[in-house]
This record gives sequence, structure tokens and C-alpha cells, in this order.
Amino acid sequence: MAENQQVAQVTAPSLVGRAGGESSGGGSFGSIEIDTGSGFCHGVTRAIGKAEEELQQGQPLYCLGDIVHNSREVERLSQLGLVTIDHKEFSQLHDAKVLLRAHGEPPSTYSQAEQNHITVVDATCPVVLHLQDRIRREYESDPSHTRQIVIFGKRGHAEVLGLVGQTEGTAIVIEKPDEASQLDFQRDIALYSQTTKSLEGFRQIVEYIREHISPNATFTYADTICRQVANRMPHIREFAARHDVVLFVSGHKSSNGRVLFGECRTVNERSFLIDSPTEIEASFFDPFPHSIGICGATSTPKWLMELCRERVQEILKDVNISSAL
Ligand code: SF4
Repeated sequence: MAENQQVAQVTAPSLVGRAGGESSGGGSFGSIEIDTGSGFCHGVTRAIGKAEEELQQGQPLYCLGDIVHNSREVERLSQLGLVTIDHKEFSQLHDAKVLLRAHGEPPSTYSQAEQNHITVVDATCPVVLHLQDRIRREYESDPSHTRQIVIFGKRGHAEVLGLVGQTEGTAIVIEKPDEASQLDFQRDIALYSQTTKSLEGFRQIVEYIREHISPNATFTYADTICRQVANRMPHIREFAARHDVVLFVSGHKSSNGRVLFGECRTVNERSFLIDSPTEIEASFFDPFPHSIGICGATSTPKWLMELCRERVQEILKDVNISSAL
């Protein structure tokens, strides 16, 4: 079996006869595949590993913001003792240990920690740390700050706040390619990207700036999109296209979840975004699918996709879909 395939045969006696040619004498007619290419990226795995390691020592541990954009995983870690706090609570905390998640933080967070005698457990993803470093050096290399540092990213997103913080808040954030028209093309531009943005959007922005930049100004760009996300796009499209129904498991706050789910929808309109097994509805499986694919974002835990598979099996076994609709 290919590495990216975990297939479970499903038997649904009440539905035999609705699955066309797949139905066999034993009632086995469908399959559920969990995409093993989905799930935590390296940065998130590392941050959760650090949290678990610290929690094992039995000391109180705070996390600045949700450790991952998945409420189920946050809940699991909170049961182990991880306390999630926001920036306001962080500013009032003293003499404590705080984990900084994979998204990273601006320099002001580190200064605040120092002032309040907070021990930082820094779980910023190395890819993000490297990007922060590049942006800081870009900013410092232009003491008169005439160059526009532009970040293709989501305004207010934790990673983007961390990146903008490297420029003392002066970087310009653009969320969509059409916002590039607001830049000043008479001045130099240095373009970067949040790690989870789409490659296509980035290419469009590069193209637009190239076409409009004044001959008296310079334009440099760095494709800083993380391949842990970008490489998943062709894979997830292929995965979604070969199943009749796709369940995409992701927290509603996950940026890359939205992007990857969008990719599923472009190739399979029977793709459903769910946060947990309780959101799976019997109506998803009408007309009855020959195969069901379960996949997710870089913030989706494997155990949650497994629970979704169990829930699908329960629904298909116990519910007569025609009467449930
Ligand atoms: S998506 Fe990439 S940059 Fe972001 S946390 Fe994961 S590995 Fe790091």
C-alpha cells in the first residue's frame, strides 16, 4: 500500500444495494482513506513536543495564544496542564514559564518577558525564525527606511504580527494580489510572504509589481512560502479528486486549513469542512459514495482524523441514510 494510503473497508448492512457495483455478497462496498500527507507540519509537531516535554516536569506552563489552530488539540493539552493566555494576560504575568508557539512573536514580546522575569520556552518554527531574521536584516540595511517592506499575509495573523514587529511596525501587509496596486511604485520595494500563503497569489503580486515599478526604483522579492504547506496543494487536489466524498478536518481559525480546503473544493464539490466528528452529517453521504477521503490541515491532529473515520463508520453502519434525510 502506498505510504499516503490508509484504507478501511466499510460494511453497512442497512445500505447494501445503494453502492452500485462495489456491493459484495458480504456487504462490503466502500472504503475510507485517511490522507497520511495531512496532519501536523514539522513546526507544529515540534511545538507540541516541547509543550509535552515541559508539562511532564509537572511545573505550570502557559502558552501565549492557542498552540495550534485546532480546538480539540488545545483541549487535549489543556487537560495535561497547558494554560492558554492572551497578550493582555501575558503582560500581567510575572515569574512564570511561557511557551511561544510555532507562529513566532515580535521583539516586544521578548522584551516584555525579560521585564516580567518570564522564562520563555521558544517553540517558534525554525522556518519562521529564519524569515523574521531576513526581514529584520532587510529593515536594518536601510537606515533611512525609504524602502517599502511588503509582506503578503493575513492582517492580524500571529505570524504576520511577528514579522511586522521586525520592522518596528512599518512593513506593509497585503492580503490579496489586487492590493498591490496601493504600493508606491516610485520607491524601492522588498517583498516577502507569510509562510502559509498561496504560491499562485505570490506570483501574481510579483508580476504586478514588476510591470509597475518605476525604472528609478528597485524591486526584490523572496518567496518565503513554506513548502510544508505549498507542496500539500497538488497532493490534496489529487487526493480529493479520487474520492466521492471528502471530509476536510480543520479548526475554523486555521489559515492553511482554509487554503487547503479551497483546493479540495475546486476538484470535488462534495468536500465538507468539519472541525470535529460531531459535525459529520448523514446527508454528506447521499448519494451514497463508493469512497470517502479524510484529510486535514497542518494543524489537524492524526488522532482527530482517526475519530472522524470511526464516526463515519458508525454513521454508515447504524443509519439508514434514506430515512435519515
Ligand atoms: S507551516 Fe511551515 S513555517 Fe509554518 S509552522 Fe509549519 S513548518 Fe513551520
